[in-house]
Amino acid sequence: MRKASFKKMNISRSVPLPIKLALLTLLILTLSACDDGQKEKTQAQAPSPAEVKTVGTSPYTDCSFDAAASSETFDIAIINGRVMDPECNFDGVRNVGIKGNRITLITAGDIKGNKTIDATGLVVAPGFINTHTHSFAPFDQKIVAHDGATTILDTEYGGIDVGSFYAKYEGNSFMNYGIGVAHEAARRHVMDGTPLDISSDPSYAYDARAHAQQDGHASWALDIPTREQHIDILRVMDQGMRDGGLAVSSTVGYMGYGVPTYEMFDLQKLAKKYERFFGSHTRFGPTEKLPLNYSLGAREIIANAVALDGAVILSHINNQNWQEIYELSARLQERGMNIFSEYYPSITGNPNLAAPGLMPDKIKGNNIDPTKHIYNPDTGELFESAEAFFKMQKEQPSRPTFLILRPATWLKEWPHMKNIAIANDSITYFDKDGKTLPFEADFSAYGGHPRNASTYGLVYREAREQGIPLMDIVNNTSYIPAKYFSRVGLKAMQERGRLQPGMIADITMFNPDTITETATMAEGKHASSTKGIHYVMINGQLAIENGVANTKIRPGQPIRYEVLPAGELKLEDLADKKYQWHSDLPGYPPTRFPPQKMNPPSPYERKNRKHHSSNTK
Ligand SMILES: [Zn+2]
Repeated sequence: MRKASFKKMNISRSVPLPIKLALLTLLILTLSACDDGQKEKTQAQAPSPAEVKTVGTSPYTDCSFDAAASSETFDIAIINGRVMDPECNFDGVRNVGIKGNRITLITAGDIKGNKTIDATGLVVAPGFINTHTHSFAPFDQKIVAHDGATTILDTEYGGIDVGSFYAKYEGNSFMNYGIGVAHEAARRHVMDGTPLDISSDPSYAYDARAHAQQDGHASWALDIPTREQHIDILRVMDQGMRDGGLAVSSTVGYMGYGVPTYEMFDLQKLAKKYERFFGSHTRFGPTEKLPLNYSLGAREIIANAVALDGAVILSHINNQNWQEIYELSARLQERGMNIFSEYYPSITGNPNLAAPGLMPDKIKGNNIDPTKHIYNPDTGELFESAEAFFKMQKEQPSRPTFLILRPATWLKEWPHMKNIAIANDSITYFDKDGKTLPFEADFSAYGGHPRNASTYGLVYREAREQGIPLMDIVNNTSYIPAKYFSRVGLKAMQERGRLQPGMIADITMFNPDTITETATMAEGKHASSTKGIHYVMINGQLAIENGVANTKIRPGQPIRYEVLPAGELKLEDLADKKYQWHSDLPGYPPTRFPPQKMNPPSPYERKNRKHHSSNTK
């Protein structure tokens, strides 16, 4: 394979350091008459407020990378690193001073710290932001941090009882953490009677799915809600938004035939009401019975968002027709819409064994053959027979498995996409006793999806081998989520995702020439760490130092909107009379909800409706 070096954005690295320092000193003296203090220097060269607006989306943007040296002693001094900031499009060797949890100085001049990290040869980038994870379990956090991430968010599935989630991880999380409000869990609560607390932490989502499956019928996935249920679902979701949830999050792809389009529209109106994102695993994906060259699921969400002027995250677009969805997203970004997509670089999905689309009555229709497409989680090999698969499905319904969904050639194509977030869609790994691994456990004990440990390493390695500009990838791994979340007023993201003075010190330092993933499906290798990531700093603390995690610290901070006072959802907010065909109609007319009995069951569901109690037999 061709090994190309990364293209560089400027010539900084080719100029010897002493000459460069002399040149910079000259430049600084020319630009600034005032020489009596760092603060004045920084201000003199900071962009004017008007410029700040055009530079980026953070109100704090400060593209001053040429501040004078300081005699101050920093808590940590990162010296000689290749500082890269996508927002300012800056790429050059600088020294970075950290005080407390913030980057306080970036300079070409000498600095000193109580602790010094020599980052010669390393890229000093804003910490990678993983917008799509489902696992906040300690060990899973450790492997994701080893892959360079500093923040993990679940914007796709999320949780309900959002306040409990944040309380649980307060002061007790390795990485920064946050969740959206789970449409799926709200439906399960309202339609299957699943208790709220089972669904507060997405790390245990598969348990909640198994709970609802106990009577043999997952109503949340298959049924169209009544008017009363519809309103209840929205009420539960609204409470999650008041609790500071990051987004209205919908895994509608797992309930493709149970969710009417008006339900999706209302959910997106709810997101708009709070001016927050609607994040979604769109429907009609590879495990549903529709032609795979359709992207109607993404189009439904985009149409709603365009009508509402709403914000959208399209989760893992790396399924069928991703090229088309990418183009839609890119064109809308160009037109100023608050939209971004995200992908994980893996050809296998990670559903649980009893995911609705893998059940005996569905699997054939979905063109899935266990001996060709599904890995036995015990052996790391494809299932030897369909019988063996169904046996394990019955015995361990909530156990995650690995399902081949995509051609391998796509792995080389995805890293070329621009202005897109990169996430790993991490799913909690439970060992044979059904327990999560302790934080200190060895990497070889992990049997979860290798993408959880390899996502960023793989993309950076592919980019190097294919000559994709390094800044494009730093932009995707670090800045894109922060950029778009900044636009919807999320303060925690306005001060992250950027390597600039004043920002929170979430920093990933890696060797661009050696970074590579090492995790594979082989036994003992599922969590094998990405190589070439030397330091990961989270809120100013070294979570990974010389490639080793500090298991004693919990520096992670909540990524959350402000909690709003308790209140009731006003349905008129979602059903504005202005847009109804007759302005005298009540806000939420029963006629919007067709009587359920009048809906002829679809061919997909006909069997289920007749034999609710026996559909798993
Ligand atoms: Zn998903």
